[in-house]
Amino acid sequence: MFIGHFAVGFAAKRYAPRTSLAVLLAAPLLSDLLWPPFLLLGWETVRIDPARTKVSPLNFTSFPWSHSLLMCAVWAALFAAIYYWITRYWPGTLAIALGVLSHWLLDWITHGKDMPLYPGGAKFGLGLWNSVAGTLGVELAMFATGVWLYVLTTKARDRIGRYGFVAYVVLLVASYLRDTFSSQLPHSVKAEIAWPGLIAGVVMLIWAWWFDRHRDLKPTLT
Ligand SMILES: [Zn+2]
Repeated sequence: MFIGHFAVGFAAKRYAPRTSLAVLLAAPLLSDLLWPPFLLLGWETVRIDPARTKVSPLNFTSFPWSHSLLMCAVWAALFAAIYYWITRYWPGTLAIALGVLSHWLLDWITHGKDMPLYPGGAKFGLGLWNSVAGTLGVELAMFATGVWLYVLTTKARDRIGRYGFVAYVVLLVASYLRDTFSSQLPHSVKAEIAWPGLIAGVVMLIWAWWFDRHRDLKPTLT
């Protein structure tokens, strides 16, 4: 899953309006943020295999540290504890814990049988990625709902708050559609998957932090 994880972060703003959108996005994206550096370090592996599923050309041969249910629970507890220690803000803490855990659930729905319960444990996956229409339908509906909840919660204070946000949403949907329909296969895991993934993750979080700071909470929420 790709933009479905962003949907969870956008939606969480409704529940935890005082938490920066960047933090609310980092939680459901955490497994995918850890994955590129873990690939570069050689702790996890992936193989390029276009026959694996219709949507994704990747066979996730091993990613227990970023993507097992047990490790997701560990990351969730760690991230939530650090956030609570700094802010003492319960809604944000809960949104982070549930957000990190949601990654496993959503990837379990989309992936083939890749998703381990714990490092070395049995792997599961419902394989929504075998259907292009099903994947697009589910993820776009989730994304629209998440963005809509964010718009209900915040309003732009200035141009950055308005156009920075709109450009972010447009870019996400465009790159999601491009990736889904692209027939081009990556050749190098490090150069074409891990490094771009790492850089894109950092850029998307900083960008979200930036436009979110230029949006105010709707009066009913302040
Ligand atoms: Zn993932």
